[in-house]
Formats: sequence, structure tokens, C-alpha cells
Amino acid sequence: MTADIAAAKAALAYLDLDENPISIRAKSRDFFWYSPALKDALDHVVGDFVVTPRNEAEVIEILRVCYAHNVPVTTRGAGTGNYGQAMPLSGGCILHMKAMDNVKEIHPGRVIAEPGCILKDLDAATKAHSGQELRMMSSTYATATIGGFIAGGSGGIGSCKWGALRDLGNIIRLRVVTMEEEPRILEFTGEELARVSHAYGTNGIITEIEMPLAPAYDWTDLFVTFDTFPAAAQFAADLAEQDGILIKVASVFEAPVAHDYFLRVKPHVTPETHLVALAVAPHSMDGFLTFLGRRPEASLLYRSDQENDWKRGPGPIFEYGWNHTTLRALKVDPSITYLQVRYGFPDYMEKIETIRKEFSPEILQHLEVMRESGKVIFAGLTMVKFTTQERLDEIIRRHEEIGALIFNPHRYTLEEGGRQTVDDRQLRFKQEADPKGLLNPGKMISWDDPDWTFDGMYSYPKIQSPA
Ligand code: FAD
Repeated sequence: MTADIAAAKAALAYLDLDENPISIRAKSRDFFWYSPALKDALDHVVGDFVVTPRNEAEVIEILRVCYAHNVPVTTRGAGTGNYGQAMPLSGGCILHMKAMDNVKEIHPGRVIAEPGCILKDLDAATKAHSGQELRMMSSTYATATIGGFIAGGSGGIGSCKWGALRDLGNIIRLRVVTMEEEPRILEFTGEELARVSHAYGTNGIITEIEMPLAPAYDWTDLFVTFDTFPAAAQFAADLAEQDGILIKVASVFEAPVAHDYFLRVKPHVTPETHLVALAVAPHSMDGFLTFLGRRPEASLLYRSDQENDWKRGPGPIFEYGWNHTTLRALKVDPSITYLQVRYGFPDYMEKIETIRKEFSPEILQHLEVMRESGKVIFAGLTMVKFTTQERLDEIIRRHEEIGALIFNPHRYTLEEGGRQTVDDRQLRFKQEADPKGLLNPGKMISWDDPDWTFDGMYSYPKIQSPA
């Protein structure tokens, strides 16, 4: 099965087709370079052309042509994923969704939009229409698309209240186009959503999305400081358990993260300061301040709803959390990399302290409060001072030994970046919807090598070789 790139390009020439090598290279990349392992493995990868559909009919036409000519198709939202999700391992077509950015309908509690809509623009539309906002967003809110968030993301701002993106009720409906001789349009709800959400576009292209909304608030951003890390983490967890106080962000940073990596915060803290960043609904501020008053170990450093003596304000608090923490650290110290860890209920504090005792300061804790089946848990986006791959593997192994699940951000496949298990629903849907295996090749191990044992890093056999 040889790809006929020239024939596909000729057939698609009437669409918005980009053949400029510089922009093709730029659109073949995402934030894979966060990981030293992915940087080595993927840096050379490049697509053959970029095509930007304006509507679903054009998506169907592109998929029909690429299917006929055996051309791989890798979909791109805004390319902010950091697992190399949007990188075309075998070249081919980059399907850039940026022009499909319409907000189609807004109703009480829900919005219908096209996948290329930027999260921030979607939020602006629902706020202006009826004072509503997305329940959840990636911290790349200002640049990422809603389609990329659903196909490549996992949760973020709002997850301390609403849980993960794939939890029941957090996506209402997805419309999907298949990669077949005659592409089909399918509508998924309920159990079927799991087929394509967080599937990296390996088994269908999302062309319409229906998402739940919550009332929009002018959230109050806060920083609270602590002398010890366990006190900071416990404060964040206890606050999230307060049923009457509405929060949207609760991030915890071990010292000296705030001092060393948060440049606008640095003048206000010491290297010993442990920091909690919060976004609290304005009507919950009274409850929050009462809660704070009961916690002598906590000191309020900053609140956005009052005058303060900061020469340069910190900017939006959510851009300190989730993967923005790693980005800020990387700007100061390029040797930093990170891990994604799940510290589950009920013994998350014990596990976090075990890791801290064994590895701090080689690794520094950055925690995000999440909700899982009604319980508060922590997602760790732990910062690691990278030395060697062997040492990183050793640190990962130790987390696994104590039962702290790792979602390995140094791998480009769905399985290795997830729970290291095959998602049968995604695989079965790929068998049905992408029989030639042309969608984002190399990202689903169970499609390529069902016997893979996860002993080492999977390397897609058909990845482009470096020039
Ligand atoms: P892309 O990176 O372009 O694509 C992501 C994946 O989705 C790719 O596999 C792509 O092929 C696929 N895809 C895109 N559109 C479609 C479509 N229409 N149909 C099918 N497949 C499609 N992630 C979080 O979950 N939470 C966070 O808080 C978070 N914070 C981040 C902070 C930083 C600084 C960075 C660099 C990354 C962060 N991420 C986070 C990862 C990433 O930004 C998000 O997942 C983001 O929402 C991806 O959106 P995107 O438009 O950039 O998607």
C-alpha cells in the first residue's frame, strides 16, 4: 500500500492546500519537545501537505481522496498537545481544523460548536449570549481548540469541581466522520463517546461537538502561602471538599517552584514558600475567607478582587497550573521535564510524602486538585530535573511500586500515555472506521502490534527516518 501524495494533492488542489515547506514543518509539530525522549524520537517528523477544510463536506472529500490514494491523515487543532499527538509519523496529509470554528447553537446548559473553535472564543460566545461558560478547559485556553482538547486532552481548569473530561456528562455529543472509501457521518452519545474522545484522531475526525455549560463567573484569583508542603496540599484538598464553596482551580506548588519559576511571584515569596493558587467564585469569597480564617497555617498573599502592591500583576492564575507550570519552569531551567501522576483516594497524602522524601529536590511536586467519582484526588504534574532516560525510568518505576499511576508524557502512543492498556472500544472502532489504518498512524499500539508488552518505549516501525 504505497501513498500517492502527488495524486492526492492534485485532487485536493481546489481546496485550501498549503505546500510551503516552512509552514508544513511548523504545522507538523506540537509541544512534543517538553519531553527529551520525544524530542529525540520525533524532531525530524514532517507531513507532505496541509489542507484546511472550511466545513464537514470538505472534510469528507479530503478523507475520500486520501483513502483512495493511501495517504495518512493526521488532524491538527492548534498543535498544543505535548505527547506528539498531532505529529505525522509517516508524513502525508495534515488536516488543519482551524477554519471550522463556528459556534452553532447556545442553549441553557449546553453549546454546539465546530471543532476548530478556540476554547477562549467559545467561552466568550457563551458568556456574551447568556452568561454561561465551559465547565472545563485546558490551561492552553487562549490557543487550543475544543476538538483538540477532546481528542487529545484530559481535563484541567474546572476539574476540581467537574472531574475529568471523559467522566460521564462532561461531553454530550460528538459528530464524527470515518476514513473509508465512502466516509460516513456518525453521531455519538453515552457509551459511544469513549470511542473517539482522547483517541488522538486515530479512528475518526470530529466535526461537531456538544458540550455542557455552567454559569459564568468573574472568578477571583488567589495565592495562599504555607511553610510546609503537606500543609499546603491538605489545605487545597480540604477546601475542595467544602461543598458550599465554588472553586475552579486549586494548584499546589512545592518550594522553591514559586520563587524560582514564577517570575512575577518571586518578589513576594522566599525559596522556602510553598504556594497554593486558587480561583474562587465571587459569591463564595465570604465562605472562602471564613475557611481561611480557621487555618492559621495559611497566609493570603494575593487576591485579584482588591487593590494590591504588586508592581506587575501575576496575570490569570490558571496560567500557573496544569502544564503551564512546566512551561514556566522550562523557560528558567531547560533541563526540567515532568511526569503525570494520579494520586488516588484515600491515601494520596501518604504517597505524595513517600515520593517527596525519596526524591525531593531532584523532583518537585506540582499538584492539581481533581474530583473523581465525588472524591477529591490529586493529579501530579511533577517536575523532574532530567539527567538520563535510565534515571527517569527508575523514578517512574518507583511511583508505580507505591501505586501512584503514571501517565507517561515521554511516549507518543495512546496506550503508553494512558493506563498502558488497550482501549478495546477505540480499537474496535478503528477496525470499523479506518480499515486501512491511515488516521494518525503509529499512535495506537494495539492496532499495529497487539502483542506489545510495554517493557520499553514503543517505536513505530513505519516512522519516517531522519533525512
Ligand atoms: P492538538 O494538539 O492540535 O491535537 C491534539 C490531538 O487531537 C491530536 O492527536 C490531534 O490529531 C487530535 N485532534 C485535533 N482535532 C481533532 C478533531 N477535530 N478530530 C479528531 N482528532 C482531532 N491538556 C489538558 O488536558 N489540560 C491542560 O490543562 C493542559 N495544559 C497544557 C498547558 C501547556 C502549556 C501545554 C503545552 C499543553 C497543555 N495541555 C493540556 C495539552 C494540550 O494543550 C491540550 O490537550 C489541548 O486542549 C489540545 O488542543 P489543540 O487544539 O492544541 O490540539
